[in-house]
Amino acid sequence: MLIKENPKLSIILVCIIGFALASSGAYLIYHDNEDLKEIKHQQSLLEFRNTIDNRAAMLNRDLDVNFEALRSIAILFRDSKKPSSDQFDRLSESIMLRRTTIQALSWIPRVQHSNRAAFEKNTRTTHPHFNISQRDKGALTTASNRSEYFPVRHIYPLAGNERALGFDLASNAIRLDALEKSRDSGKLRATASITLVQEKKQQKGFLVFLPLYTGTPTTLEDRRENLTGFLTSVYRIGEIFNRSALSELETPDIAFKLVENTSSNETKTIFITKNFQAIFNNNGNQPNERNGSFYFYEKELADILGRKWTLFSLKKNTSTYRSTVIGPVLFFITGGIFSLFVAMYIRKIANYSEELSDVNQKLDAMSHTDGLTKIPNRRTFDEFIEKEWHRAARNKDFISVLIIDVDYFKPYNDHYGHAKGDETLKKVASALKTIIKRPGDLLARYGGEEFIIVLPDTEDATSVAYLCTQVVRDLKIPHEFSAAAAIITVSVGLETCIPDSSADLGMIIKNADKALYEAKENGRNRVESFVA
Ligand code: GH3
Ligand code: MG
Ligand code: MG
Repeated sequence: MLIKENPKLSIILVCIIGFALASSGAYLIYHDNEDLKEIKHQQSLLEFRNTIDNRAAMLNRDLDVNFEALRSIAILFRDSKKPSSDQFDRLSESIMLRRTTIQALSWIPRVQHSNRAAFEKNTRTTHPHFNISQRDKGALTTASNRSEYFPVRHIYPLAGNERALGFDLASNAIRLDALEKSRDSGKLRATASITLVQEKKQQKGFLVFLPLYTGTPTTLEDRRENLTGFLTSVYRIGEIFNRSALSELETPDIAFKLVENTSSNETKTIFITKNFQAIFNNNGNQPNERNGSFYFYEKELADILGRKWTLFSLKKNTSTYRSTVIGPVLFFITGGIFSLFVAMYIRKIANYSEELSDVNQKLDAMSHTDGLTKIPNRRTFDEFIEKEWHRAARNKDFISVLIIDVDYFKPYNDHYGHAKGDETLKKVASALKTIIKRPGDLLARYGGEEFIIVLPDTEDATSVAYLCTQVVRDLKIPHEFSAAAAIITVSVGLETCIPDSSADLGMIIKNADKALYEAKENGRNRVESFVA
């Protein structure tokens, strides 16, 4: 396991992986936040557009219904009848009660120049100052001579619209244009936006014309020929907006602008809410859907009696949703702390397992070492000889075993004491250790005062055996109670063989033991080799 083999590397790896995971997690969270922000932005924009679409469609429908109101007045003029002022007023009043965006309804007869004087005179019976008029540089003046006139003969309500009475609509290019279109098509037609004659403020308005004919002409020529006049409804654009469903949307954060762009080369602002410029200016730069600070939506309205209007809508982006870095940062910190904990834990485990392996090593060494002499013990010898015996058998190699036994050690113990005996055994072990030079050789304490030496791959071990007796004698440890010498001596039994694979491992030891017995028999302090 990596933790055990390389704890430092594992800690570094855990830290790197932990921090990589924490930061990629944090990044993903942040990215998701950004996506969410974008989605919310798109959602708001879509909702805003949908609302505008619906309200704009409502405005178009309301206007259509309003425009159709003129047709109900046309009934009064059926079969070239001329309704009385009262009849016109009563019907107009009832219509305007229901169609509140209509500012005024009027009747505009077609007056040939030859009839002008009579017409004016006749009208003055009810309106003493009546005069067919036109506008010159803002001021109303008597209309100049033309082949025909379209003066306002009747208007409801009169109060507030007095100035319009007698005004020749054909004297003004914009009005004339719509008049002619209406006359030629037989349809309701609207003028481009104008400043109404009766208007005191700058508010824009427009007129809608319904042509009246004698009979029901079907060709252009018939229509031009049989035209008797027009019914007109008057609108203020501000009023239309204020009474529409759009105005309900107007808040300090939502603004509108209506632009007329019937001819593509001429666009004209016909209505603007007060807050429009403020929202627009606040954001400095050009309106831009992608600009997070406001939404912008441009919608072309459905045809308004031959006119084209475009609605511009602005909405401050008041979305409180902010993509936050708190989430990602928290994730990163938590992830980081977590990986630090894991790293610390691994360090602890690593330390612990290091200690454990130290202890194990010590235990292992202890279990293979003799406590007194600190050389390998009997167990080590057993494991060692097992391996070497089989290897020698496989390779057909010689192997030598020497058993070394201290002579007359019982009397030594008895007279010098056990402690002295231990000390002597240690000295003997140290002396024997000096003989073992090759790394493949083994010296072990076989038991009691016996030692054993294994020399793998050794055909002649007699010199080593003699050396054993020599090094012990060289210690010159006095031993007054030995019959072999006045000092501590050892006897050595030697056996050398090439193990037969069928032979028993115990044989070599038994034979060495037999040789040792011979050495003892022959007077001790000597070497004997096994002879079969
Ligand atoms: P021989 O020459 O025939 O080998 O005679 P011996 O007295 O050495 O042999 P014996 O087997 O009779 O006695 C062995 C003695 O070794 C017995 C015991 O007191 C002593 N001995 C064995 N192990 C230890 C030890 O760890 N410490 C000490 N101090 N004495 C030991
Ligand atoms: Mg013995
Ligand atoms: Mg002995």
